[in-house]
Order: sequence, then C-alpha cells, then structure tokens
Amino acid sequence: MASIQNHTAYLLLGSNLGDRAATLRAAVQQLNELAGTISSTSSLYETAAWGLEQQPAFLNQAVQLRTNLPPEVLLDVCLHVEQLAGRERRVRWDARTLDVDILLYDELVLDSSRLVVPHPALPQRRFALVPLAEIAATTVHPVFGQTVTELLAACTDVLPVTQYYTSEAN
Ligand code: ATP
Ligand code: CA
Ligand code: CA
Repeated sequence: MASIQNHTAYLLLGSNLGDRAATLRAAVQQLNELAGTISSTSSLYETAAWGLEQQPAFLNQAVQLRTNLPPEVLLDVCLHVEQLAGRERRVRWDARTLDVDILLYDELVLDSSRLVVPHPALPQRRFALVPLAEIAATTVHPVFGQTVTELLAACTDVLPVTQYYTSEAN
C-alpha cells in the first residue's frame, strides 16, 4: 500500500473449524494485502471454546496492523477475510473457520451499531489478553487507562490459554 499507514490497530484472529493454523496463516497474509501492513504477530494460543460449549477448541492469534483504513472500513475488510475463509454465520459464538475482531484502534473509543472499539469483551477474555500482551504489553486501554499487562493481571477468566506449536513456522 503506497500511502502513509498512520493508524495502529490490534486484531484478534480465531479459528475452531478445519485446519486452524493454516486458516490463521492465510488470514494474516490477506489482511497484509487488503488492510495495510501486519507489523507484528503473536504466537498461536489454544483455548477451550468460550460462550457456547461443546465446540472444538480455538486457536487465537493477535496481530498488530499499520493501516490507513478508517475503523468501519477496516471492519468491512475483517468481515471479508472471514468470508474468504468460508465462514458461515449461524448463531452468535457458533463454531467458525475464522473470526476477526478489532480489539483496539489507536486511542479510539467508538460505540456505533456496527462497531464497538475497544472490543467490549477484551478485559474479560484471557484468550484475547494473553496473545495481545505478547505484542502490546504496555499499550494502554483508552477506556480503563490500564495497560494490557495490567488488564491481564486483573482478568478473572479461568479458561486456560496455552501456547500452541505447529511444525511449520508461523
Ligand atoms: P464477540 O464480538 O462477542 O467476540 P463474535 O465475534 O462471535 O462475538 P460476530 O458474529 O463475529 O460476533 O460479529 C457480529 C458483529 O459484531 C459484526 O458483524 C460486527 O458488526 C460487530 N462488531 C462490533 N464491534 C466489533 C469489533 N470490535 N470487532 C469486530 N466486530 C465487531
Ligand atoms: Ca469474537
Ligand atoms: Ca467477530
């Protein structure tokens, strides 16, 4: 992308259907092509499914994106990348090949019908805070004024989040 990428967004990628690691790898590449530059990626982490139970475990990865897309346009790209992964929307929190959520976008605080930033569930989700802390430990949450590390220390979510190793480099 030629123009200046003067915004920093953090996204959380999640997959619990199909070849999860391959899906995340493809999504990072597509976001890098369609949304700006993926400037940092966390390790992959595995977590039991949250919300609806009786689902396969999730792989999650946080990424840092340098972008010049405004937040709503970035959301459209995230939804498009989900579609490229063949996501079917049934009920909320159902199993999915790919979920892409915007966790943070600069210091932006936004609450519209389509988009809430920071992601409202971030402080309650260890599976989001653990990967995010790997790449954005000192980033401050614009609503709570705490760093990601501090949010993680205060998080009461008990679902274990374990680092996941693949044979291929990610
Ligand atoms: P959750 O948001 O609790 O993680 P989910 O990811 O399963 O649940 P989806 O079905 O993927 O929910 O998304 C439903 C809608 O949420 C999206 O179409 C989008 O308009 C909206 N949305 C609001 N805020 C955000 C955000 N920060 N990131 C991504 N989608 C968002
Ligand atoms: Ca989600
Ligand atoms: Ca989502």
